[in-house]
Amino acid sequence: MNSTMSTLPVLGHVINGRNEVSNGEELLDVVDPSTGATIAHITAGDAASVDQAVNAARAAFAHWRSRTPGDRAAVLIEVAAIVDAHLDELAELESRNVGKPSALATEELQGVGEVFRFMAGASRALSAPAADEYLSGHLSVLRREPHGVVGAITPWNYPLQMASWKLAAALAMGNTVVLKPSELTPLTTVRFMELVADVLPAGVVNVVLGTGPIVGAAITEHPGIDMVTLTGSVASGQKVMESAAATLKPVHLELGGKAPVIVFADADVEAVVDAIRMSGFINSGQECGAGTRVLCDASVVDRLTAALTTAVESLKVGAPSEGDHIEMGPLVSETQLERVAQMVDRARAEGATILIGGRRIDRDGFFYAPTIVTGAAEGSEIVSKEIFGPVITIETFTGEEKAVELANNTPYGLAASVWTQNVQRALRLTSALDFGTVWVNSHLALALEMPWGGFGWSGHGRDISILSLEDFSRTKHVMFATGA
Ligand code: NAD
Repeated sequence: MNSTMSTLPVLGHVINGRNEVSNGEELLDVVDPSTGATIAHITAGDAASVDQAVNAARAAFAHWRSRTPGDRAAVLIEVAAIVDAHLDELAELESRNVGKPSALATEELQGVGEVFRFMAGASRALSAPAADEYLSGHLSVLRREPHGVVGAITPWNYPLQMASWKLAAALAMGNTVVLKPSELTPLTTVRFMELVADVLPAGVVNVVLGTGPIVGAAITEHPGIDMVTLTGSVASGQKVMESAAATLKPVHLELGGKAPVIVFADADVEAVVDAIRMSGFINSGQECGAGTRVLCDASVVDRLTAALTTAVESLKVGAPSEGDHIEMGPLVSETQLERVAQMVDRARAEGATILIGGRRIDRDGFFYAPTIVTGAAEGSEIVSKEIFGPVITIETFTGEEKAVELANNTPYGLAASVWTQNVQRALRLTSALDFGTVWVNSHLALALEMPWGGFGWSGHGRDISILSLEDFSRTKHVMFATGA
């Protein structure tokens, strides 16, 4: 588009503490998904912009890493306070750019200040093997050090929250960062940078806007970036890993998911229904831990299906601007809507039953009706691949062994839940299930003190918790000859 024809805001990169005004580069549209209208433009960065950002991050690194954990923590606590003070403004912006209900945006952004505070404290209390003379006449000490410059690439479903998980851990450990938000949802990341400009030293965090194949790829390839962390799709994860191989940089990946919700006959059906209504449709199902794949004991499936259908039909769908009663908004883009619609259409064509939904909602924006699919073939696409939309499937099993087999029959391994009153069965399943988080009688409950991350196609590496501080740092064994 031609920027001279538009009165909308044009956002630029933030490099070395400066907002880079767009200088004739190509611009990309940022769209409100609940109307389809363009609400801002961003500069489309390139390898040269990444290079500038890396130079700024490298220059800032020496000083930032030399500060004590306590000094860095003080900065992160100030960042948290600023985010908290601007919570309403940031939530409103996130709600508009992603199309999510404002209550959801608010709840999610409350977690942003919290993760900065958590990492500030946790980074001052790391433990390691005790310094000792493990070899006679030699004293061993473990140093924990930053990697250097971290390249962070974030998705569009929880834009500022995902950025905060990476920034808080990376900064707490003394790294500096080059961050690329999703080109679809950059607004809160840019606003965050404006808000913390007086608190974060210049160059410690740099934001380059633009597309994955250009800016994301330039980050993963850059020899001046020492580690790359991505939250995104499996396809992007594969590309990042491939291109990081050339410089052998560590790769930290949080990718897709296909969480089973395993319901045994002794489960509290009402609680299961409440959990699926929330976790399967929150953020319009654009949630990597979504409770999207219901596996139900055949003896209770009719009762569960009837109750779930009533519950899902009661979801209030609409634009966030329609009011606080709205529970589910649109999908993030026309492309995402098409992807979801085509997946459901393929399942329908293969003989699955669409109990409710299964269609685009006839209005402006990218709305898809909450959908329940039953009768899909075991191992078929709709029950084994990530949908990332407001769609759940219901399958049945008889016996614990079959439940585990079905649950694990997906290449993803991010999260799963087990619903039963039988403690021993629950314990057996928490061991047998191949997922990075397993909930018992709950789904999608997160705690910053515990890690989030997966196995297999869900990637590797851990966000949040003290384990993320380990991922965002490296260890060095130092050994002194004592002369004894
Ligand atoms: P995406 O992979 O399309 O984009 C994620 C980011 O990667 C964007 O910033 C994008 O520009 C960038 N990117 C794209 N191609 C790239 C390339 N070749 N090199 C480098 N960067 C590239 O994902 P999305 O559609 O924004 O997000 C949805 C996906 O993210 C889903 O699959 C979802 O499950 C996953 N996700 C996972 C978690 C988790 O914690 N595991 C959390 C949120 C989202």
